[in-house]
Amino acid sequence: MAENSVASLIEALAGGSVEVVDLTQPLNENTPVIQLPEQFEQTPPFKAHGISAYDDRGPAWAWRWLELGEHTGTHLDAPVHWISGRGGLDVSQIPPHHLVAPAVVIDRSAETAEDPDCLLTVDDIRAFENEHGPLPEGGWLLLRTGWDARAGDTEAFLNAASGQPRSPGFDAECARWLAEESPLIGVGVETVSIDAGAAGGFDPPFPVHYFLLGAGKFGVTQLANLGSLPPTGSLLIVAPLKLTGGTGSPIRALALVQRG
Ligand code: MN
Repeated sequence: MAENSVASLIEALAGGSVEVVDLTQPLNENTPVIQLPEQFEQTPPFKAHGISAYDDRGPAWAWRWLELGEHTGTHLDAPVHWISGRGGLDVSQIPPHHLVAPAVVIDRSAETAEDPDCLLTVDDIRAFENEHGPLPEGGWLLLRTGWDARAGDTEAFLNAASGQPRSPGFDAECARWLAEESPLIGVGVETVSIDAGAAGGFDPPFPVHYFLLGAGKFGVTQLANLGSLPPTGSLLIVAPLKLTGGTGSPIRALALVQRG
């Protein structure tokens, strides 16, 4: 261990032996947002409103104001988002050390290409641990599925042409295990929700939301570039807005990765 670890990190970043990988999808009018069954209230799509653009409204400056839901684009779910986490932390209350923490990546992109309803199980995690070692204490599990390639096309991303969304995720027992038994603080996915597309029909419904947020843990959705991360050893940085009472927030998600 170097005498000054931050100085060592700065040096590694400058020298290129540590790379910063952007795990965030662009946030704009085309960003897919979740669509709930029609009896429920919907979150609006992202919209940017111009205030001025170096014009009569403000001759030397450009700025916009934004219309967006808390759960839009690459974003974080706080415990208070779900009824099982009611009374838990809102997004402004998350201890910052949880937002800078180790991450592992389980790659299910080949399986997802075969079956969009592909679900991760506890056995899959055990197999990963046998190969790569135990999950990191206080860390994050990021589920790579290749779904990020669809993020520019809402129809392909939500994949609900049949009326039933079809997208990968975790089975109910895996969700319970991640929440109650794993040493992790959160999970991240490439899809629109931390739950699989079909999870409304699981027992309990939306088990990742139910168990994970109920256990005071966190979820991150709509990640990009997980294919650039190694299975273990990267440092995840997720930065939500410090929204008082917020149930979630768009984030900039970054990873620090050793290169060479
Ligand atoms: Mn959300």
